[in-house]
Amino acid sequence: MNICEYCEYSFIKRGNLYKHQRTAKYCLKLQGKEPVNTVTHQCTYCDKTFSRTDILNRHREKCTAREIREKMCGEQNKLLVIIAQLSKTIENLSQNRQVAESPSSDENVIN
Ligand SMILES: [Zn+2]
Ligand SMILES: [Zn+2]
Repeated sequence: MNICEYCEYSFIKRGNLYKHQRTAKYCLKLQGKEPVNTVTHQCTYCDKTFSRTDILNRHREKCTAREIREKMCGEQNKLLVIIAQLSKTIENLSQNRQVAESPSSDENVIN
């Protein structure tokens, strides 16, 4: 017999005792633990929490917050490409101006 050291509940299987100590709310309370901290899995996109990872994974596949975030991410990437192109253009322009402003006529004067 496996007896829970916290609530003195007895179990035939040791596995059941471990499961009980991890999941039973009244027992976790006796252990001084919050049941919320032990068995929640939070969606990384929205703030929803789930007790099981497979449920979480299923949720994440159709999470609306994920769709919004991925869409925003796509828009952000497009913007980054535009910014990169712009900065390259600006670089080229300033280089061209430097060439144009280089005082070739002054050199002629010195020579
Ligand atoms: Zn217990
Ligand atoms: Zn979600």
